[in-house]
Amino acid sequence: MTLTDFRVEHRYLDLPEVFYSRVRPTPLHRPKMVCYNTGLAQEMGFAVDEPEQWAALGAGQELLKGMDPVAMKYTGHQFGMYNPELGDGRGLLLWETVGPDGRRWDWHLKGAGQTPYSRFGDGRAVLRSTIREYLCSEAMHFLGIPTSRALFLVSAADPVRRESIETAATLMRVALTHIRFGHFEFAAHARNRETLKTLTDHTINLHFSHLEELPEQARYHRWLSEVVERTARMVADWQAVGFCHGVMNSDNMSILGDTFDYGPYAFLDDFDAGYICNHTDQEGRYAYNRQPQIGFTNCQYLGRAMVQLMEEDDVLDALRYYEKAYNDRFLQTMRNKLGLALKEEADMDLIMATFSMLHEHHIDYTLFFRGLSRLPSKGAGPVRDLFVDRKVADEWLEGYQKRLERESRPDTEREAAMCAVNPKYILRNYLAQQVIQDAQTGNYEPFRQLIEVLKKPFDEQPENEAYAAPPPDWGKHLNISCSS
Ligand code: AMP
Ligand code: MG
Repeated sequence: MTLTDFRVEHRYLDLPEVFYSRVRPTPLHRPKMVCYNTGLAQEMGFAVDEPEQWAALGAGQELLKGMDPVAMKYTGHQFGMYNPELGDGRGLLLWETVGPDGRRWDWHLKGAGQTPYSRFGDGRAVLRSTIREYLCSEAMHFLGIPTSRALFLVSAADPVRRESIETAATLMRVALTHIRFGHFEFAAHARNRETLKTLTDHTINLHFSHLEELPEQARYHRWLSEVVERTARMVADWQAVGFCHGVMNSDNMSILGDTFDYGPYAFLDDFDAGYICNHTDQEGRYAYNRQPQIGFTNCQYLGRAMVQLMEEDDVLDALRYYEKAYNDRFLQTMRNKLGLALKEEADMDLIMATFSMLHEHHIDYTLFFRGLSRLPSKGAGPVRDLFVDRKVADEWLEGYQKRLERESRPDTEREAAMCAVNPKYILRNYLAQQVIQDAQTGNYEPFRQLIEVLKKPFDEQPENEAYAAPPPDWGKHLNISCSS
């Protein structure tokens, strides 16, 4: 390994021991390095000349000098029910590194074997789900949405029992923090005010240091407001890009507002406001159009925990930041997507009418906005072609063109700006499914190719046009469950 500027720390271990258990990884056998993220490694301040050397690390057979693995303890609300038994059931925090730009990275090996928090689980992750997480965290990053990242993925020979027998794999997930809302719920519910205070001070010290000088109550109030705002903005970004998380439990909410814990997620193909991507979520608690509300509910769970440390009025006030942060971010992003530089009162009506139309006529969300972006050079054809009923398209386009007439930007400029925010390439479920099928036969090349495409979602990539296609019939309603 060549280090440029790379420091190892274990700040999580500064927390009281109730927050973790020391656990060694349980080794997997005959590991293979499936994919290694060279660009991310560089950002983090190191280079590995032969990534294959790290297959043993990924398989839990070896640790790097200085690693001190722990399973983190947290709790959380799953589908609205408080679960005190949670924690890292199959992932281990190995160490933290600080890179050349001062950013701190948690290294978390997902699929490393059982821990005291595994409950009935085997501590493993399967190739299918680690590929899905790798793909989506990278896709989100390159779409400009805050997220955990994937450093490398290792597959192994060990069989893992899910609905069928699958291949074991691990993912080295890195993130600026793995502290979740659930950590605070654990501290408040199962411990005491002192533990909650230690955790909050730790989090502020590491990740919100700009608040440290404030007097205590003001500091906590400002901190909670910022967490709430970050969460609201993250969900607004999801809505605008058409992303469904699928399992918005409070143990899957990062305290930094990063998209976190990718399971049965989906990007919308044909727009469907009530889309439920998680096959296990029968009541649609986490349906696409409920995500903004659920983001707030999760902030309320966090707020409820913080009442032990903060004035209740401060907690309630901090929660009020959600709605404004969400609305501001969503409105601005949708204006950008529609190419509206001028701000008009009625823009929200146009946005809502657009969503209703997309829903009613089952229009592919990504193709629609990309098509709109190219109206100046390609005309209305590509947008009209998405509609069975062209009259609907024409009526909408007429209203939209009228609104554009009040814009002063030259068409070419607007087109460039819109193409920079309306992706051409998103991670459609069928694309993930195809590369998983290949990977399961030992061919990882399509997976690696897909990652390359997703790195430039806003570019025209003429050689990769096929990746922008809407799903074929078989790929439209794939059943993705929690099983991973
Ligand atoms: P998730 O739905 O992936 O966020 O997982 C929820 C909880 O279940 C977390 O505490 C996980 O660590 C745990 N978990 C998920 N899958 C397994 C597994 N195969 N073995 C042990 N624990 C697991
Ligand atoms: Mg989780």
